[in-house]
Amino acid sequence: MAKGYSKSDEAGRIGELRTLLHRANRAYYTDASPIMSDAEFDRLLVELRDLEVKHPELDDPDSPTKRVGGEPLTGFRQVRHRLAMLSIDNTYDEQGLRDWYERIRKAGESGLFGSDLDPPAIVCDPKIDGVALSVRYESGKLVHAVTRGDGAVGDDVTHAARAIRAIPLTLSSDDGKAVVPRVLEVRGEVYMPAREFERLNREREEEGEELFMNPRNATAGTLKNLDPKVAASRNLSFSAHGRGEVIMRQDGDANSFAPTFSEFLKRIRSLGIPGGAMTTVCRSLEQAILVIREFDTARHKLQFATDGMVVRVDSFGLQEELGVTSKSPRWVVAYKYPAERKTTRLLDVLHQVGKTGKITPRAVMEPVLIAGTVVQHATLHNYGRIQDAETEKPGVRTDVRIGDAVYVEKAGEIIPQVVGVVLGERPAKARRILAPDRCPECGSIVEVEPPEAADTPALETVRRCMNPECPAQMREKLVWFAGRKQMDIEGLGEKTVDLIRGSGTIPLNSFADIFRLHEHRSALLELEGMGDKKVQSLLDGIAAAKSRGLGRLLASMGIRHVGDTTGKLLGRAFPDLDALLAAPVDALMPRALKKERAAELGLPADPKDRPETGLGKDTAPVVFAYLHSPAAQKTWKDLRSLGVSLESPDYRKHGAASGAGGPFAGKTIVLTGTLENFERTQLAEILEGLGAKVSGSVSSRTSLVIAGDAAGSKLDKARELGITVWDEKQLLKALGKA
Ligand SMILES: [Zn+2]
Repeated sequence: MAKGYSKSDEAGRIGELRTLLHRANRAYYTDASPIMSDAEFDRLLVELRDLEVKHPELDDPDSPTKRVGGEPLTGFRQVRHRLAMLSIDNTYDEQGLRDWYERIRKAGESGLFGSDLDPPAIVCDPKIDGVALSVRYESGKLVHAVTRGDGAVGDDVTHAARAIRAIPLTLSSDDGKAVVPRVLEVRGEVYMPAREFERLNREREEEGEELFMNPRNATAGTLKNLDPKVAASRNLSFSAHGRGEVIMRQDGDANSFAPTFSEFLKRIRSLGIPGGAMTTVCRSLEQAILVIREFDTARHKLQFATDGMVVRVDSFGLQEELGVTSKSPRWVVAYKYPAERKTTRLLDVLHQVGKTGKITPRAVMEPVLIAGTVVQHATLHNYGRIQDAETEKPGVRTDVRIGDAVYVEKAGEIIPQVVGVVLGERPAKARRILAPDRCPECGSIVEVEPPEAADTPALETVRRCMNPECPAQMREKLVWFAGRKQMDIEGLGEKTVDLIRGSGTIPLNSFADIFRLHEHRSALLELEGMGDKKVQSLLDGIAAAKSRGLGRLLASMGIRHVGDTTGKLLGRAFPDLDALLAAPVDALMPRALKKERAAELGLPADPKDRPETGLGKDTAPVVFAYLHSPAAQKTWKDLRSLGVSLESPDYRKHGAASGAGGPFAGKTIVLTGTLENFERTQLAEILEGLGAKVSGSVSSRTSLVIAGDAAGSKLDKARELGITVWDEKQLLKALGKA
């Protein structure tokens, strides 16, 4: 990628790329006029990362590659705000707004605004429904980002803020004119765009995780995650809406940076901070009211949720004169749009089964227009909520029934949900909604889980079909199972799965059915587009997948709480399936055991010497229950008879975890090229098992490169840096296999 540059050119290229990528972020988020495609951005980022690995001496903590740095935090640091983040008074009608303005006008009449008799300019700024954040820059560098908290003290979420591309890491003037203050604290809203919210919930649905209620909820959850990779993986955005502490370099107070709020937004925008894209400066209250009314229609078309309009006095000087009450500033008020709530009739409830077996009640209603779209379906969330819905009578709650008149709202303007029942309109023949005891798709027994999060009402429960071969879940599971990172079955992609399942002649309703496909060779050949060659490569792919081993198999089955990592860890902790099935439930979480119990199970006294499985006291019983369920027993029996390996090649004996003393212990190894005897992922696991760290790119810290056939640029780089290179023969020898 960096070919064609000499050493000194490379230093120059690093600088060039950093500038270019910073500019691209700014163009996208602050100026809303992208200068490159996402793919181009990613390509340049990779080029920069590669060059930085080669030149550790040119390290810069503010490089665009450093947005996700370091390890997950263990907890939040509390930070006191230099200037309190006060809450704003709300008003829910125009009269409230008029009263507020009248108080300001009166203050002016009493001489507060000096000789200026004109009513003060006010600014309308849409209220984005997200999470408020105070972002502090010192000498133009992002130093920390803190949540509002109680207004006086908030949580330090700098790790997450750095991963948000809309928040610049360094400030720079776009025209060379704007001054960067010594301290610049900007308050703003972190929010999740609607599309991202929908994508995230789809993904969570697939993984059987609880859905986020609305984008605000999802944003808060993301910021509060201690792992910065989480924030980086979700496309959060940011928009400034206030001023915190500002200290100039030389003379002048905060107001000399910008005398008004509207000017402040312009200044920080020219320094690269997004904000103020939708603000309007108004000369009268009547004008502001028009802006508010117009925005109520426009806001439903935006890609993010808004719930009101913040109206404030523009001049910072006047704001200071007006001051604050005990709770909130006098110079600002938030006009809240009424949540659009409609009444309609609940016609039916569908019980939908997701990929992980979660059963969700979904309302079918008489169509109703809410916030600009016709709504016919809405979520009822879960069966606990159905039992505990609000009514029109304060304090009275009831269950939702089919035939009821129900209140429907769009949560965060996006997902329609049933929020209550008009009890007074309940027809005599309204039917109770029964939570299914059996899976509506396969008839298996449903398991009821207790509430997961502490902040959910006690009634809230998750119902799940526990049959891993439930047809409602099966298609998704088969596609997942065959995927490259799972069993890696060549030729069994989504399309082929659908083609075979749609044939009606070839059964494909279980994992075992995959390994029986060779019995249907002639029927496969008759499928559209399945020639001799394709069928053969599919069958070869399936045959090859039989030997992936226990860890990969477990990780591929879509077992709740057993993802990629846990599957592999279980494969390392147990030599084969029989050993795993013979283990008592607590042996699935060896690190959590008391010393006495560990001794009983023949495990080392020091928890660190016991195998890590990734499971704990909440998850181990769920996995145990699945492993021993009748459905799983059948799967094991079938897979065994079909010759699928249930052994664990990665198993390592307790205490041998560090691989101490071996030729690979403590080494940083890079694999490149094609190896004859190993798959790369498999080899990486073996080496990690022997105490090595396997890395994706060659740098001066690499201790060994293992090169197979057709090794490319990594091998070149290794030679250039003088790093030891082994071929496969040397590797086999070191592993004691040749
Ligand atoms: Zn089912």
